[in-house]
Amino acid sequence: MRGRGLGRCPLCGSPVQPGTTIFAADLGSGVVVLRDVPAYVCQLCGNAAVADGVAATLEGASAAARKRNSLVSVTGWYEVEPVDEEINRW
Ligand SMILES: [Zn+2]
Repeated sequence: MRGRGLGRCPLCGSPVQPGTTIFAADLGSGVVVLRDVPAYVCQLCGNAAVADGVAATLEGASAAARKRNSLVSVTGWYEVEPVDEEINRW
């Protein structure tokens, strides 16, 4: 079945395709940006959804950026450690 596992866009119901998105979060003390985040991207409206494991790693990267107290943190996804290692390291 073509596209079955990937699901559909929660906003417009169109099929989604594997792609990348940009993640940005305002931490109050600074801003964290991650580029090239793997995501399921809607072909119609462009809405991007990330898998649970990706979302957990994004949260870990945000927490790490907050601890570093950097004003602006821009990181590529390929530079981010998986969330488990992130916990060990910090
Ligand atoms: Zn959509």
